[in-house]
Amino acid sequence: MNESTKVGFIGLGNMGAPMAANVAHSGIDLIVRDADQNLASKIAYASGAVAASSPSDFAEVEIVVTMLPTSTIVSQALFDWGDGVVHHLAPDAVIVDMSSSDPTQTKELGKILKGHGIALIDAPVSGGVSKATTGELSIMLGCDNAEAIAKALPIVESMSSVIFRTGDLGSGHAMKALNNFVAAAATTAACEALVIGDRFGLDQHTILNVLNSSTGRSWVTENVLGPHVVDREYGSGFSLALYSKDVGIAKNLAAAVDDPAPVCTAVAGAMTNALSTLGNVDHTEAITFWEQERTTRGT
Ligand code: NAD
Repeated sequence: MNESTKVGFIGLGNMGAPMAANVAHSGIDLIVRDADQNLASKIAYASGAVAASSPSDFAEVEIVVTMLPTSTIVSQALFDWGDGVVHHLAPDAVIVDMSSSDPTQTKELGKILKGHGIALIDAPVSGGVSKATTGELSIMLGCDNAEAIAKALPIVESMSSVIFRTGDLGSGHAMKALNNFVAAAATTAACEALVIGDRFGLDQHTILNVLNSSTGRSWVTENVLGPHVVDREYGSGFSLALYSKDVGIAKNLAAAVDDPAPVCTAVAGAMTNALSTLGNVDHTEAITFWEQERTTRGT
């Protein structure tokens, strides 16, 4: 990559905004895009990037990062905005999908993009908004195209140096879904413990303190449970809809390899039920549904 390499970034929400800012701050010539044009202008102004107003603004862009809700939206953002961003990119461009996408759809998208002379890398992330901001995300990079990886790596590294090479295209997205299934299992189990303990008469701060210095400790209990669940801030920056989507992807992955995945199925069910009642709240607010559900069942 040389200094004049043009990079595009699509999707400037809770995660995309701080990630794009880190790319811009590393001195890269960046063009940003979000369906919310006001948001794109705001992020562009704050980070010294340029906000795209039409797909042709992506002319000669060599690397595009996507940080969008789902696989379907990634395809829409690339093909369905005006005459399509993909038709304007530089020859041999590389797209790095850092969203938590579905690995099966990623493989299909890879084939379609190959037909346009574009390489696809999956590089989903973990660490939430805080690590996106500090540039310390865990990145799970899938792709066996060495040339594409070499081209995109400096951009990926501007968002974090913690990069795991997971295998072929789609393997990063599969790994991400499995990681989020494990984290969601920790979340639902910890919330269940809070609800049960509370009903028995235990103080929730006591439960939290004991978990965090005992074998029940996890990233969830240390970073999310205290402020967002026990202290009821409900502001982790990760929505219940996106979290449910990830556990759903893990469930589909299990089905694809013929595994009944009873724990994943139970966690997915708990999250889907909360989502259908509460709507798309911060995922930490799901405890209010689980508390209510148990109260109703108990009466
Ligand atoms: P978000 O909902 O905050 O942001 C998504 C952004 O995409 C929004 O700004 C929206 O306007 C934009 N968008 C939607 N459709 C678009 C389109 N067609 N074209 C252009 N822009 C479009 O979501 P987020 O929390 O930033 O998550 C993004 C991805 O990262 C998801 O796949 C999520 O699962 C994953 N993720 C989230 C977290 C987290 O803590 N929030 C952590 C790791 C991974």
